[in-house]
Amino acid sequence: MPPKPKAPANTTKCICVGACVGFECVKQRSTALVTFGRSEEALSLVEKAIQESTNDRQLLENLETVYGAIKSSERRNKPLNAAAITANVEDECTGHRKSSDVGDIPNESTAKRRRVDNDSFVSTLADHFDCILCSKLLYEPVTTCCGHTFCRACLCRAVDNSDACPMCRTILHLEDPSAMPITNVLRTAIMHCFPDEYDIRRKETEADAPSAENALNRLPLFPLNAVVFPMQRFPMHIFEPRYRLMLRRILKGSRKFGLVAFKRTSDGGSEMCDVGCVLEVTKAERFPDGRSLIQTVARERFKVKGRIEVDGYYVGRTEVYEDTEETDSEEVREVEQRVRTILGGLLERGAQLPPIQHALRRAGQVPTEVQGAAALGMWLAGMLVTDLNERQQMLELQNSKKRLLEMEGVVSRFRESLLGASGLESRECCIQ
Ligand SMILES: [Zn+2]
Ligand SMILES: [Zn+2]
Ligand SMILES: [Zn+2]
Repeated sequence: MPPKPKAPANTTKCICVGACVGFECVKQRSTALVTFGRSEEALSLVEKAIQESTNDRQLLENLETVYGAIKSSERRNKPLNAAAITANVEDECTGHRKSSDVGDIPNESTAKRRRVDNDSFVSTLADHFDCILCSKLLYEPVTTCCGHTFCRACLCRAVDNSDACPMCRTILHLEDPSAMPITNVLRTAIMHCFPDEYDIRRKETEADAPSAENALNRLPLFPLNAVVFPMQRFPMHIFEPRYRLMLRRILKGSRKFGLVAFKRTSDGGSEMCDVGCVLEVTKAERFPDGRSLIQTVARERFKVKGRIEVDGYYVGRTEVYEDTEETDSEEVREVEQRVRTILGGLLERGAQLPPIQHALRRAGQVPTEVQGAAALGMWLAGMLVTDLNERQQMLELQNSKKRLLEMEGVVSRFRESLLGASGLESRECCIQ
């Protein structure tokens, strides 16, 4: 099969007057229609429609026409299903006729006509079984309180953008659209009429993330003006539509994503850092308007080796990122012991001070000696370093001893600022 034609590049501006309801722009609806072509004949029709269109509106109209033609021809080319339905309907007809007019057997020409009628009946019916959002056969149809029906996955994505019904704009207030009950009678009817197509739709939907992401060991990336260290707890508010989609996918899969900070570039812009930290969602609370509050805990560091964009957010190919220099030696253990002594004194005398309690709540318990110098250094950096650039440097450092030496200075200064040189006198302090 030849490669699918691409929608023309000039279809970027949204000029919709309602045709593109859920997905917000003509370009996306056109793309949905373009990807519909499955046969060579269908593809050439789509290509022709693209070539003959001079603007977005015309393109959409042409594609809708082609799409209608492709759909009905595809459905008519399924003789088995159509025949099964024809047979069913004829049985019922014959039964009815027997009771009213026994012995009247339909002649060949009326039977043929009825077959044609049933055929067009099925293809007419088929158009009502299409989802307005994806232009495909309804898969796992769900019906809103206003009586409109969509694929469940499509409705989920539509309410990421707006909590109004994509058809009539009724405000929906859905607790969890992904848990909406399927309209069973409708699903049964669709599966009965179009079993093959429904099966294709099932495979398409299942091939969608998160399974695809997990299978490839890809990590969804969330860029933010923050640097998080392993073991830190990090609450987040998810409100952007693309990250609502990302969150829904990761909650179905590994519950993990990568947090990466932005860094300034030489030309004054900003770009994603390569080294970040895996966050695992421990708790997620979704509001009826679609926003979510999540609680996360940071796991290991990673380095981004490459990334692709998926539905508006980035998914990275990542590798584990660990300390490789001076991780364990006599010298490192000496520094570690010195730091632990300062820290022990600080925690003992300052355990009741709000800044320390606050810090411990976010950073978790002090890493044990088994967890080692790298863990202790990063735990302290996460708690005590406030400048974003310095935090990123500490995260990217792969030398355990260097980081601990830095932290020895920071924790000493912190102790002095908090407890005074010798007493329990509390002063201003800056703590993340
Ligand atoms: Zn639009
Ligand atoms: Zn759909
Ligand atoms: Zn509606």
